[in-house]
Amino acid sequence: MAKLIVSDVDVKDKKVLMRVDFNVPIKGGVIGNDNRIVAAIPTIKYVSENGGKVILLSHLGRIKSDDDKKELTLAPVAKKLSELMGKEVVFVPENEGKELESAIDAMKDGDILLMENTRFQDIDNDFGKRESKNDPKLGEYWASLGDVFVNDAFGTAHRAHASNVGISTAMKAANKPVAAGYLMEKEIKFLGDAVDNPVHPFVTILGGAKVSDKIGVIENLIPKSDHIIIGGGMAYTFLAAQGHKIGKSLFEEDKLDLAKELLQKAGDKIVLPVDHVIAKEFSNDADFEVSGIDIPDDYMGLDIGPKSIELFVSKLNDAKTVVWNGPMGAFEMSNFAKGTLEIGKTLGKLQGATTIIGGGDSAAAAQDLGVADQITHISTGGGASLEYLEGKVLPGIDSISDK
Ligand code: AMP
Repeated sequence: MAKLIVSDVDVKDKKVLMRVDFNVPIKGGVIGNDNRIVAAIPTIKYVSENGGKVILLSHLGRIKSDDDKKELTLAPVAKKLSELMGKEVVFVPENEGKELESAIDAMKDGDILLMENTRFQDIDNDFGKRESKNDPKLGEYWASLGDVFVNDAFGTAHRAHASNVGISTAMKAANKPVAAGYLMEKEIKFLGDAVDNPVHPFVTILGGAKVSDKIGVIENLIPKSDHIIIGGGMAYTFLAAQGHKIGKSLFEEDKLDLAKELLQKAGDKIVLPVDHVIAKEFSNDADFEVSGIDIPDDYMGLDIGPKSIELFVSKLNDAKTVVWNGPMGAFEMSNFAKGTLEIGKTLGKLQGATTIIGGGDSAAAAQDLGVADQITHISTGGGASLEYLEGKVLPGIDSISDK
């Protein structure tokens, strides 16, 4: 069922509560990467320019004690958003109570307000984690502050928190609209089309450290994909399952039987590395060399080798849909970044293909490697995009009104 989108709703003169994902890296008040703030701007701008009062909510990090509050205030984000938009953003250093309510009352059409980190509600109260455990009273309180709720926080859509599911539930009970923002709409469109309706050939590329993180994705995408390319640390459990020697490489013994089962189920759809860049230590200073498919006892595989790159690229060349999640090696170390770089470059060059990168490390890799601009869609949600690719219903999306 298609979801209600912000442009379907009348926002003029309305108080528009908007859940965004401003969970950005901040150290000493300085924002390390403002991608998520930039990604939220189209929806904020749309509502503001169409005469709505924009009341923003977001979480930032995890609050375990009062000390965390100093580092995890959203004040620097309000400043950054104001700079990026060239417009005043009022910051309210609380998210419940008189000061917030008066600031909202004072808003004029088009104004933008950001309230304090929603997770400040996770301590110092009788309920416990009011935000993260979705205290219904908190959702009701926030819902009472607005006429419309727009959820644009895909990054938290896999969690049922008071600031997404709680507000949605209370708004719907009060017959007020709950709509997706443009970022949420884009994420649902690209990831949804890839999972439900991919143009073939459809190639899934998985990497990163652990098989256990990606089992659900492999299982869901085996029947839908034409090829599932597996690189990175997770490839070694599969190679071991095929009887290859993997030396000191990453290995999940408790996933060995599952790897065997998945290899059997997937037939020749699963494509594994045929050579490796190996070293004796997990260090960029270690001597490294290229090995064949088997790895000597005292070495570990830290990147895919040149023949594997060639093999993987050959499977990608005629792809029309590609989903990539997880690096091909320990790409943070320059000596072991080539596999990830070459896959990123290949995706960037594919003609007439929809290329999608799940969030997290592969999104960071695409950016570091300068290929991000050539990718059709880079998801803003690591955990959320993985769960979407697993075919799960995400509570934050499910709770948006249907059209
Ligand atoms: P993930 O968070 O599961 O996507 O894993 C990303 C991490 O996996 C990165 O920090 C990589 O350095 C690491 N990684 C990828 N391939 C390997 C490998 N062959 N050996 C050790 N670590 C790896």
